[in-house]
Amino acid sequence: MSTRTLSKPVDPHVLVAEVVTAKRLSPHLQRVTLGVEDIEQLTLVGHDQWFRLFLPRPGQDALRLPTRTSNLGWYAQYLATPRSRRPLVRNYTIRSARPELREIDVDFVLHGHDGPAAADEPLGPGAGFALSAQAGDRVGILDQGAYHRPAAECAWRLLVADESGLPAVAGVCESLPDDARGVVVVEVPTADDRQDFRAPAGVDVRWVERDRAAAGDPALGEVPGRAALAFVRGEQLPPGDGYALVAGEQALAAGVRRHLVAERHWPKGQVDFVGYWRHGKASPS
Ligand SMILES: Cc1cc2nc3c(=O)[nH]c(=O)nc-3n(C[C@H](O)[C@H](O)[C@H](O)COP(=O)(O)OP(=O)(O)OC[C@H]3O[C@@H](n4cnc5c(N)ncnc54)[C@H](O)[C@@H]3O)c2cc1C
Repeated sequence: MSTRTLSKPVDPHVLVAEVVTAKRLSPHLQRVTLGVEDIEQLTLVGHDQWFRLFLPRPGQDALRLPTRTSNLGWYAQYLATPRSRRPLVRNYTIRSARPELREIDVDFVLHGHDGPAAADEPLGPGAGFALSAQAGDRVGILDQGAYHRPAAECAWRLLVADESGLPAVAGVCESLPDDARGVVVVEVPTADDRQDFRAPAGVDVRWVERDRAAAGDPALGEVPGRAALAFVRGEQLPPGDGYALVAGEQALAAGVRRHLVAERHWPKGQVDFVGYWRHGKASPS
């Protein structure tokens, strides 16, 4: 969900990608490197560029991909296909790209595979794919553009995410000009899930560790994003016209937006907020 138009790809294609490697970055994040033979057909824009990931459904002997690529076209075709013949579809971010090697990296949150909540949290197809990805596994990808679109005159930016939005926030930071200023707030499950990424000197990266926050207030550990929302509410923010991008669990995205608009009186148009997932609800497929 966004109050501004996202930057959409002009001529997207459904591309076949193959797993090159998969490696654990941290306790809850797995990086899968995908080889994309036709990478010239993927217009790489950096920032928080995201895509639809098509995965074979259990029991399917081959990957079945949509042939239509316009935003409504592929989805109409998908819905018109009997469920047993459709692929599964999930949304992910291009964390980084190496076009010269025809590769992209995608960082998957391994939610539900360990930790205290694992017993009642199912491992979804996206996380399950990343956990068991083997070289040569085939998937489909369809570029969807990026949400990070500050007005040219914005003086600084606020980027807020849970671990599912960490690839987006890291990608935005690495795409910013050297003189950019901002505050980044990322909630991660544990200190070991922090990551180093390149950010301009004027961008202050603040980590919120969920397990530490929950030690002080157990409610903050119940749903990813709650601790980051509490942090933003209590934080002193820089003066001047800011632009915010919030990405993560739906209540984090909506909560930060509500806080900025209702309590800090930010114009709605200066806040982009994207509910990446909903606690307790699987993505539709
Ligand atoms: C634009 C966009 C970009 C995204 N980029 C990324 C990305 O780069 N990396 C990434 O990991 N995710 C990203 N996401 C979020 C990802 O699409 C969802 O987390 C998705 O639900 C994962 O699919 P799944 O099959 O693993 O779980 P699902 O089958 O969708 O859900 C199964 C269960 O797991 C829970 N669940 C889903 N995601 C999480 C989570 N992150 N933490 C805890 N519980 C969860 C659900 O509430 C549900 O109960 C992005 C989403 C969007 C819209």
